[in-house]
Amino acid sequence: MERCDLIVSNAVIVDGSGSEGRLGSVAVDGGKIVAVGDVSGWSAEETIAGDGLVLAPGFIDVHTHDDMAVLKTPDMTFKVSQGVTTVVAGNCGISVAPFTTEGSFPPPFPLLGEAQEFRFPTVAAYQEALESNRPAVNLALLTGHSSLRVIAMGEKLDQAADSAQIAKMKEVLHLALKQGCIGFSTGLGYPPAMRAPEAEIIALADVLREFPAAVYATHMRDEGDHVVAAVEETLRTGRKAGVPVVISHHKCAGRSNYGRSGETLKLIEAARATQKAGLDVYPYTASSTVLLPEYVRESDDVLITFSDPHPEHNGRRLEDVVAEWGCSLNEAIERLYPAGAIYFQMDEEDLKRILSYPPSMVGSDGLPGQPRPHPRLWGTFPRVLGRYVRQLKLFSLATAIHKMTGLSAETFGLKDRGFVREGYVADLVLFDPDTVEDAGTFEDPEQPSHGISTVIIDGAVAWQGGAAAGARRGQFLTH
Ligand SMILES: [Zn+2]
Repeated sequence: MERCDLIVSNAVIVDGSGSEGRLGSVAVDGGKIVAVGDVSGWSAEETIAGDGLVLAPGFIDVHTHDDMAVLKTPDMTFKVSQGVTTVVAGNCGISVAPFTTEGSFPPPFPLLGEAQEFRFPTVAAYQEALESNRPAVNLALLTGHSSLRVIAMGEKLDQAADSAQIAKMKEVLHLALKQGCIGFSTGLGYPPAMRAPEAEIIALADVLREFPAAVYATHMRDEGDHVVAAVEETLRTGRKAGVPVVISHHKCAGRSNYGRSGETLKLIEAARATQKAGLDVYPYTASSTVLLPEYVRESDDVLITFSDPHPEHNGRRLEDVVAEWGCSLNEAIERLYPAGAIYFQMDEEDLKRILSYPPSMVGSDGLPGQPRPHPRLWGTFPRVLGRYVRQLKLFSLATAIHKMTGLSAETFGLKDRGFVREGYVADLVLFDPDTVEDAGTFEDPEQPSHGISTVIIDGAVAWQGGAAAGARRGQFLTH
């Protein structure tokens, strides 16, 4: 008999590859998986009875804004409680590192935190902060284009970068990748990057080529009326720079664009014959970001998630606040700003089509630290497993898990993660496929999900029986 730290016995192991589950046990030692299936040669310090529940690789949330949250709320309950063991941060062009500013702090940077909290000129400084107070989950970081723009261009962001500014951004990006960033992100639909031409993005994405596993993830220039052109631009950027692309939180926003995911997915599918192209999606028909008039215009309804000057309106409908104030919509938005909102602006049929498209990964796009966050922050992964797998039978459980684990690890180059395999890191989630479900609502979003039994990160129990179990062994993941 060999000794090991932990055995999870008699579970249905769904290994992350997309293959159906099979009954077996998993042995863990020193943070690694040492045996899968038959563990009769092992005896463990601690055994967790699987009881026929599903044992899967810990979920990888490929689209997060958890850069600051891992430092401020290292227990990361909103993620661990839904089975997430790794987050990819630095999305949508805004990364907390590398970042320095002489004062420029335009939207959407306030989604991450306050200006004075941005104190990491290098990725190495950020990694040090993270490792000195380890969070429960692992984190991999993308370098944000808008962060680079603020570093190189200061307040003058409403124009294309000149050649000296591009050179500066390339230098900072190169160092960030050398220090362990796993790729580059843009937020081309947001004010700090809207005026960046395609050529600027291609010039920067080109830096990734020296780093073979690096990816380019983009919150595209447009997710509404011009979404098709935006997908074309994204694919062209990937081709010209010769890098893999990931389309972030793919959607077709606004009533007049309902149904257009048919077109966008066709484009992505055709491109995949000759280039690496992926996408992520969250399982809700409402989005959430900073409060901006252009998003309000394309939405059926808007809820306020936070307002710094008017916190008394957190959680209220924007329309009701406008009526109460008796002012114009634009004036109300100005008075509420800095503020965030939830926008009801998508079609369930598009969501189902995107979610069930085989290359799609699950990413929450959750926004931590808000008084009334979008429920995706707490519920994304259990919602896919409960609503879309068990209730609507959109795809199999094994397929869903692949979209949350193996596919995500492969796309983002997270080695030794995303699969239940010997030699892989023991990031695992044990859950009940008959009861797993999100619990948060738009009215009451901060609710741990149902059916998540045990979450193991780096071989230690981080969540059990509906409560945090204390382990904080998250690592800064690099290629
Ligand atoms: Zn985004």
